[in-house]
Amino acid sequence: MTNTNAAYEFIKNKNIHEHEFNQAVSEVLNDIIPYINNSEYDHHRKYAVIERLVEPERIIQFRVVWHDDKNRVQINRGFRVQMNSLLGPYKGGLRFSPKVNLSVLKFLAFEQSFKNSLTGLPLGAAKGGADFDPRGKSDFEIMRFCQSFMNEFYKYIGPDLDIPAGDMGVGSREVGFLFGQYKKLSSQFHGALTGKSTLWGGSSLRQEATGYGLIYFLEQMLCSQDEDLKGKKIVISGCGNVAYYTALKAIEHHGNVLTLSNSTGYIYDKDGFDLEKLNYIGKLGRDIYKYSEKYSSAIFAENKKPWEVSCDIALPCATENEILKEDAKHLIENGCTYIAEGANMPCTIDAVRLIKQRRINYAPGKAANAGGVAVSGLEMAQNAGKSYWSKSKVDNKLRAIMENIYQICELHGNGDLAKGANIAGYLKLSRAMIEQGLI
Ligand code: GLU
Repeated sequence: MTNTNAAYEFIKNKNIHEHEFNQAVSEVLNDIIPYINNSEYDHHRKYAVIERLVEPERIIQFRVVWHDDKNRVQINRGFRVQMNSLLGPYKGGLRFSPKVNLSVLKFLAFEQSFKNSLTGLPLGAAKGGADFDPRGKSDFEIMRFCQSFMNEFYKYIGPDLDIPAGDMGVGSREVGFLFGQYKKLSSQFHGALTGKSTLWGGSSLRQEATGYGLIYFLEQMLCSQDEDLKGKKIVISGCGNVAYYTALKAIEHHGNVLTLSNSTGYIYDKDGFDLEKLNYIGKLGRDIYKYSEKYSSAIFAENKKPWEVSCDIALPCATENEILKEDAKHLIENGCTYIAEGANMPCTIDAVRLIKQRRINYAPGKAANAGGVAVSGLEMAQNAGKSYWSKSKVDNKLRAIMENIYQICELHGNGDLAKGANIAGYLKLSRAMIEQGLI
């Protein structure tokens, strides 16, 4: 395949109902195909590198049966997309959400292969989860679900095979239940999952890693323009782990964080959040609207997204496709000059096109949010070496990894970090693929 359209049409037709997956593939092919479209890369066509990169090595789908607190039988669908094991064992999170389906997981697993390759760590790529909604469930319901999920899933994972972690809907509580059941079934205590509690094999800073890493990456972007975070107006979407620690690190580095959000709306504090306010938000759970009852400097905008707030920097940390073209337009018209993605693929293709046309400094999730999986990689190293590293050691390594990812993207993209991430990721994956033969 020699042109982007032909390649994309071929893949799209093969996966006709998988919109998110096709979106992620098209975004990558737009950068890759023109780059390899010369005789130097003939062997990539001969070895069908692109066709193999978009085809998961294995997909596992299974039934998860559990009973709720009212003793009713519940059935969910569990999945694991083992995208590729080119650079190491399969690695990537588990997502529990009613929105989970194969298209979403294939897009996430595809993105994960580029992201993991950029970390420089020996990590393959995978993503999994279930169409299970953890919201409103009791601890015992969550536990029974996790145990039933693992009853099937344990056969396919292990420290040298596939190492899942958390993602949306899967935090330390779920990882605990999953690990407990894995241990019971396998009779092994080893690092088959990351994101574990630091009491029993987890790495320090794993929870904070995606958010901290995003800010370290953003600081590189700012630095390249002789700027820094001090006093910059920042809007953040989301209220989960990524958004929370992004806000925390931004505040620590003197950024002026104005918003956080969830699916019910966003809170906007014109005076900005400080650590005490952030701590309060952390305690509110889903009821973030209560923030404006306590702080008169704030409003709660029900059912709205924070992209209408004037800012210098936007950090989408909620979910895929949360910034549409109109949202990007609002951001740009209101003065935003930096967009860095804490979530995976939060900007639609049209939004990214506009952002690039207007020459906004833009960092794609596969580069800017790689801090989470990077510290998972460090957790694996600590587990394999049967050791624990100090917070400062992990933090220094995380910072170095994010700075290195920035340099690589800059080098390969000539100022276009998204293109740089795609090309750098592709070059590494394609080389491994060719070296390892037709498998
Ligand atoms: N779910 C996270 C991501 O999107 C982390 C994956 C991991 O730690 O394996 O990269």
